[in-house]
Amino acid sequence: MSSALGRIEAKVLRGERLTLEDGEALFEHPHLPELGALADHVRQRWHPEPVVTYVVGRNINYTNVCWVQCGFCAFYRLPSDKSGEAYTLSREQIYRKIEELVGVGDGVGQVELLLQGGLNPKLKVDWYESLFRDIREHYPSAWLHALSPTEIQYIAKLSDLSVRDTIARLKDAGLGSIPGAGAEILDDRVRQVIAPYKETTAEWLDVMREAHKLGLRTSATMMYGSADTTEHRLQHLLRIRELQDETGGLTAFIAWSFQPDDTPLGEQLGYPRASGFDYLRTVAVARLMLDNVPSVQASWVTQGPKIAQISLRFGVNDFGSTMLEENVVSAAGTSYTECMPLSEMRRLIEDAGYRAVRRTTLYELYAEAVPA
Ligand code: SF4
Repeated sequence: MSSALGRIEAKVLRGERLTLEDGEALFEHPHLPELGALADHVRQRWHPEPVVTYVVGRNINYTNVCWVQCGFCAFYRLPSDKSGEAYTLSREQIYRKIEELVGVGDGVGQVELLLQGGLNPKLKVDWYESLFRDIREHYPSAWLHALSPTEIQYIAKLSDLSVRDTIARLKDAGLGSIPGAGAEILDDRVRQVIAPYKETTAEWLDVMREAHKLGLRTSATMMYGSADTTEHRLQHLLRIRELQDETGGLTAFIAWSFQPDDTPLGEQLGYPRASGFDYLRTVAVARLMLDNVPSVQASWVTQGPKIAQISLRFGVNDFGSTMLEENVVSAAGTSYTECMPLSEMRRLIEDAGYRAVRRTTLYELYAEAVPA
């Protein structure tokens, strides 16, 4: 073990907070399993039982109409699109997808509806309020984990409301929690390169802050491996940590790597594809830096089931959602975007030496008696 890792290990064992410089030393540490073991120590502090959780859920991309043109996105179609590929799902199409999801959940327990889409100039706050109310009425077991900070900020602008009032109205209509998407890298220099029209770092954090103040829990994400350096990644983690110190509203952190295929940014950068080692190193460093965030979730959709399984020994304690479909990532050419059958997810978890336990979106664990 290097002296730098030995010094950091001593801090971790004493429960001391790590600095940016510690994070840099962790990223530079050449022995990946040692880094994993240290992250696993922190994971065990948060989750002493040998349990890995998962949620029964699906992603519904309700519209692909979006004007933001993020360089890493192969999913959107412009509002002026004439190709016939732009869509907004009808109420009936959304209901059909929810019914499939409720079927997978066996009608017992909560299922997670991850509703996300583009920034569609035709959809103001009342469209979402009406949709959420109807979903809550027709499918009480479906938990609305919906809309990124990017979408919420745009809905507020479009509807001439403050972010706070927008979130309050959506919550009143049934919004249960907010996924931490759109964070990409919380550094405005990187955002200028990869998504110049997206909200700023401060705006993303502000939406989350308002949501937490209104009693909504959220997750936080990071998309790395495009125009970022490890210092950008660490600054991102420190900003998430500061927000959590302030509000305590984050449930989990999820990292995934840039999927370059069929994207302008991929072409611009020469199609970089982050390696499995880079992913394992990044989640381990995140587990160590984010000493105040309870859970770290795997991203099997972008890393594949096998790397996701290995990540369970690198600080990860949650396998995420069964997904059923994921249009945004599959549009960028990733092949792991089919539904993962529950039996396969449970097998991967158990084969790694853990008990697989179903949870709700807010990380409440179900008793074993609830059907998987
Ligand atoms: S990532 Fe989201 S905000 Fe950016 S272009 Fe794609 S759909 Fe629009």
